[in-house]
Amino acid sequence: MKRKLLSWLLVAVLAAVTWTQMAAQRAGESSAAFLPARCAGQSLVLDAGHGGEDGGAVSLSGAAESGINLAIVLRMDQLLGLYGVAPVLLRSEDISLHDSTAQTLREKKVSDLHNRAAAVEAQENATLISVHQNIFQSPKYHGAQVFYSNGELSLPLAQLTQNILRESLDPENHREPKPIPDNVYLMNHITCRAILVECGFLSNPEEDQRLQSEAYQLQLAAALTASWLQFQETESSAA
Ligand SMILES: [Zn+2]
Repeated sequence: MKRKLLSWLLVAVLAAVTWTQMAAQRAGESSAAFLPARCAGQSLVLDAGHGGEDGGAVSLSGAAESGINLAIVLRMDQLLGLYGVAPVLLRSEDISLHDSTAQTLREKKVSDLHNRAAAVEAQENATLISVHQNIFQSPKYHGAQVFYSNGELSLPLAQLTQNILRESLDPENHREPKPIPDNVYLMNHITCRAILVECGFLSNPEEDQRLQSEAYQLQLAAALTASWLQFQETESSAA
């Protein structure tokens, strides 16, 4: 089990490293051409939390959470593409998804969250992975925390993801997945399998720096990609 996990991670990271060179050579070709499509009938939805005027949490050094969330999701999109998985991205640029009728910041935020929930619900047989960064008054906390919606439906993926994050990035992080709090709108207004990953704490000085580095964003993306690929494998072998 562990060896398999490490091989997924290694392949994912190697793929990312060679991605840029290959992309230059293969411009115009489909990235799915060299691997068969996986996960038939399943749609994976990736949500980079916040965006546009809603930057989310602000890190100790002044970085907006929204940009870090987006960088990780875009990396995941690349890595998953190498395995023939084409996730649905709720946003792929620094924008809010509100209706044009929304005026105030508050209205825009409400509209954005409604539209995200509707977009997830519109997908058949969807699984949502929502990517966020944590913040706390005290700088002492660090490490990733996985939350989940819809109980038993999402717990296995949440558990697997928390395990992979621990084993691949942070062996000292002994957090267990938690049910999502009631006040997180998107996660409480969808019916599919859904996890929200708080990748780390922007209120911790060391983790703030790590979360802003491309290398760590890639490691996080590789861990989340490995989790989804491994989850799919477990599901298909159980079916
Ligand atoms: Zn957030």
